[in-house]
Amino acid sequence: LTLLGIESSCDDTGAAVVTGTPGEARVLSSVVQGQGQLHAAFGGVVPEIAARAHAERLDHCVAEALETAGIALRDVDAIAVTAGPGLIGGVLSGVMCAKGLAAATGKPLIGVNHLAGHALTPRLTDAVAFPYLMLLVSGGHCQFLLVRGPDDFTRLGGTIDDAPGEAFDKAARLLALSQPGGPSVEAEARAGDPARLRFPRPLLDRPGCDLSFSGLKTALLRARDEMMTDNALHRQDRADLCAGFQAAIVETLREKTRRALEIYLQDAPAVPVLAVAGGVAANGAIRVALQELCDQNGTRFTAPPLALCTDNAAMIAYAGMERHAVGESDGMDLSARPRWPLDRRAPAMLGSGK
Ligand code: ATP
Ligand code: FE
Repeated sequence: LTLLGIESSCDDTGAAVVTGTPGEARVLSSVVQGQGQLHAAFGGVVPEIAARAHAERLDHCVAEALETAGIALRDVDAIAVTAGPGLIGGVLSGVMCAKGLAAATGKPLIGVNHLAGHALTPRLTDAVAFPYLMLLVSGGHCQFLLVRGPDDFTRLGGTIDDAPGEAFDKAARLLALSQPGGPSVEAEARAGDPARLRFPRPLLDRPGCDLSFSGLKTALLRARDEMMTDNALHRQDRADLCAGFQAAIVETLREKTRRALEIYLQDAPAVPVLAVAGGVAANGAIRVALQELCDQNGTRFTAPPLALCTDNAAMIAYAGMERHAVGESDGMDLSARPRWPLDRRAPAMLGSGK
């Protein structure tokens, strides 16, 4: 099977070609065009600008993905596209592009949940078997998913407010570090003392796998203001703030992951696997903490390469392949959905962790 995938749910325009079968697939091409500069001046993604940029760039991304893969559009078996959740204008741009290609070629159209794309990536990169535990941790999401099949996700918990990536980005803004915040806070933290300042570990005292990160930035703001003299922050103070802030996130994620693992291991999986995805999975301190936790629990730890951890279309093509393989597809009435919880048991308003 060879699938073309299209992604446009946030601020990355992507097109990719993936070939093979579920559990044994490989990426022939993956084109991602970020929109960082377009939104930089506004301090966040502007939905209208994003939708327009996607619409302008999709054709080119698709052409490039096909060319790099060395195939023609008529050679693909199906066209997969992110149908949500995400910024609705962007999702619509992608869905309309995919519908056009499907109508022109007569190929099946397959709508994919963006979160399913992230959650199934370990099967593309590492041939991981079901069931596995997924920690999806990015700029917009933070949730634990028990993945029992390509369409069987149970949400064990997640953030009740901000996602960690968002927290890192806000922290960087408060400390005048460059965006995206995660890498710059992590770099600063290396020179800092994580024990000097103790930031809150929200919800650790409560049972379950839910997390909260919004209180952290308030604590950071207060600590920063106490350290500032003449509106300036000493280098070491800034490094210590970053180290303490990161330590709070690492420790919270570690403890909640421990609890999620406990639930997952009750299923007695033959080969227990914890997988992470999302941009925050790039964080070295988080990776080390999760690896240690897995070592203690006889669980394999896996993280896709960074390019497939952040938003991309290869994961969409792959998730589409999983659907196509069981004979599923959508009609021309496929709609774009701003909200679309993966876990059908989860209430829609709580589903995304946004
Ligand atoms: P989503 O995919 O949920 O819609 P997004 O597109 O913002 O959200 P990603 O592209 O997966 O998310 O990841 C970007 C986020 O990852 C940013 O918030 C960034 O700060 C964070 N990030 C990247 N590298 C690191 C790192 N080394 N440490 C911590 N966070 C990081
Ligand atoms: Fe994403």
